[in-house]
Amino acid sequence: MQCDVCPRACRLHEGQRGLCFVRAREHDRVVLTTWGRSSGFCVDPIEKKPLNHFLPGTAVLSFGTAGCNLACRFCQNWDISKSREVATLCDQANPETIAYAARALGCRSVAFTYNDPVVFLEYAVDVVEACHALGIRTVAVTAGYVSAAPRRELFRHMDAANVDLKSFNEEFYHRVTAGHLAPVLETLEYLAHETQVWVEITTLLITGQNDSDGEIDALSRWVVSRLGPDVPLHFTAFHPDWKMRDVAPTPPATLARARAIARRNGVRHAYTGNVHDRDGASTWCHACGLRLLDRDWYEIADYRLTDDGRCVRCATSCPGRFDGRPGAWGARRLPVRLADFDLRR
Ligand code: SF4
Repeated sequence: MQCDVCPRACRLHEGQRGLCFVRAREHDRVVLTTWGRSSGFCVDPIEKKPLNHFLPGTAVLSFGTAGCNLACRFCQNWDISKSREVATLCDQANPETIAYAARALGCRSVAFTYNDPVVFLEYAVDVVEACHALGIRTVAVTAGYVSAAPRRELFRHMDAANVDLKSFNEEFYHRVTAGHLAPVLETLEYLAHETQVWVEITTLLITGQNDSDGEIDALSRWVVSRLGPDVPLHFTAFHPDWKMRDVAPTPPATLARARAIARRNGVRHAYTGNVHDRDGASTWCHACGLRLLDRDWYEIADYRLTDDGRCVRCATSCPGRFDGRPGAWGARRLPVRLADFDLRR
């Protein structure tokens, strides 16, 4: 029996689990074994996802489950994504409780983030529905490595997504992530052209692996020509982790170089991330050059957009989802025990 959720197309014997470890064949059906269980909850700034054009300054309730359908050697969440331990899934979390907790905590959205929601698709869709019933929006942080039908299902009601484009090189995808580039590009084109999902892209730059001028040039040209100039592109810094502890952290100059190449190629909103770089973290009006959101890491120091997201100087619309004044959550990170919000207790 084959699992068709992602391009891996794992073929499973009775009782066997797929590469993601959370989908298994049971009684001649492929089932999700982690529905309703989470590896933890935390309130974060939305900018940490990273999303710089989606309800800026607001708090988001972040959570994940366990397992992943890629095997990135540099994974920064490997304790969750590669978990084989049911003990990792500490919190019982029904969708209504998650939505209620988000509202009670003052979060505008819930993010599926510590591992890829592709592998817990059915659970993520149930959480989306519960959130929307309470007016809470939803965010997928994903590698976009998903097959066509589940892709439609996952993103049908999602409000925003940050998609990891890990490289623009098939050899890198194969060697470092055990995946392929083409399905990720398909997901990006699908989101940009066939959905209302607000999309931003993140590329984690690793020295000597995916940071050449040529690759960044090709990647950013593809983004502009196939997705349009308004899709924000984040270049973030790698920190040694998991099976790549022998590679040095990415120098800030690499991120600044990548941002300059992307801007030269027409990307209107290119960012640096995981480093202190106020210019690279800020949002600029592409028409008149005004600094629209002055960001200091995750803090918004100054905000020069109208309530409907227009530049206060030239009235050009800034792409994204803006809704009134920015939030004031700041850079705080607040771990949450979901049981404290369980209405059934
Ligand atoms: S979702 Fe999991 S089980 Fe299904 S094909 Fe992908 S890795 Fe295999």
